[in-house]
Amino acid sequence: MRAYDIAIIGAGPAGLTASIYGERAGYSCVVLDPNPMGGGQIINTYQVDNYPGLPGISGMELGNRMKAQAESFGAEFLTERVLTIEKDTDFFLSTDKDKIKAKAVILAMGAKPRELGVNGESDFREAGVSYCATCDGAFFRNKDVAVIGGGDTALIDAIFLSRFASVVYLIHRRDEFRAAASVVDQALKIDKIKPIYNTVVDSIEGDMSVSSLHLRDVSTGKETNLSVRGVFIAVGTVPVTSDIAGLPEMNMGYIVADETGITSVPGIFAAGDIRTKKLRQVVTAASDGANVITSADAYIRSKL
Ligand code: NAP
Repeated sequence: MRAYDIAIIGAGPAGLTASIYGERAGYSCVVLDPNPMGGGQIINTYQVDNYPGLPGISGMELGNRMKAQAESFGAEFLTERVLTIEKDTDFFLSTDKDKIKAKAVILAMGAKPRELGVNGESDFREAGVSYCATCDGAFFRNKDVAVIGGGDTALIDAIFLSRFASVVYLIHRRDEFRAAASVVDQALKIDKIKPIYNTVVDSIEGDMSVSSLHLRDVSTGKETNLSVRGVFIAVGTVPVTSDIAGLPEMNMGYIVADETGITSVPGIFAAGDIRTKKLRQVVTAASDGANVITSADAYIRSKL
């Protein structure tokens, strides 16, 4: 069994920032994530325009840089999935490979794409249905695709996909996008991006792969078929809390915690998109990662 001062679950901006602050505070930190690449959700974001000081950086590059910075301070990274957390005097984490002992635990598992929940979605997964434009966009060169959603992810995905696709239909259930105004302006200036407002997808159809979407106008009830070869679903995220046993109190799947990261279990802290909060951004995840180390430090010292 390996022992550390702080075990951090999740290598997104919250977990990586916690590991940087933790190591700089003199604690041995291990970061556990089944994905060997640092960055969490941001590795799927083609361009991050609002992280201070690094305008236009790709999510992949930002994640790589944060991980390299954490490693330079001594943080250790293990490509392991945490299955259970048990508390004794210390914490014991069982992973899919080993056991880890730690004085404090930071939950920073983040969130994953929400499914749309319509017929055909699971049938055509990886056969035209995607949740990651940056991963799969290039497969749709000169083809018609659709993006579903009206938030920053949907709009940024549509902008990215317009590099490859012939037409990008941007299908949103309301008549106004939720994304930042600057992103909306940028997207709507691109001729290839065709917004379709007040419309929902009732089903995704095809044979071996996606060939069309069955759409419904929510204001008129009119139903239509739209021919597309790819559909990129960007309808928000859900917290990644379902696969670990022994977690603190949750609300709708999010760990209940404020900016301090303090949860219902002393010694377990939460940072980033995984916790109850209003604004889920890279900068607020990084902020949580710093704050949570102050709380973990106070907890560890109180046990001395
Ligand atoms: P989001 O902001 O929650 O937006 C989800 C979108 O999907 C909304 O427009 C919502 O419609 C729509 N939606 C939800 N359920 C739906 C359903 N069942 N059918 C049809 N449409 C549905 O999610 P997000 O865009 O993934 O962003 C998540 C967070 O990350 C946000 O805080 C965002 O600002 C941030 N983010 C930032 C960047 C960046 O700055 N570079 C990039 C990506 C994401 P309504 O609008 O009607 O609710």
